[in-house]
Amino acid sequence: MSLGNVTMCHCYKCRKPTQVYGSRWCADCAYPSIDQDYTRYQNLLEEGYTRHQARLMVGWADPSEEA
Ligand SMILES: [Zn+2]
Repeated sequence: MSLGNVTMCHCYKCRKPTQVYGSRWCADCAYPSIDQDYTRYQNLLEEGYTRHQARLMVGWADPSEEA
């Protein structure tokens, strides 16, 4: 499948390989506003939140999950 491009596309949310070349999101994760949520997630990390907290705040994690 690779044509010499070393960059594999992995979903930024769940880290599985994406089915669509160049996509940041796999089919399971993609939804219309995911790019905005990802920007928010990055901002939360910059503000000092943990990845788990940031995921919870953008709705990407189940609150019952432990960090
Ligand atoms: Zn995914």
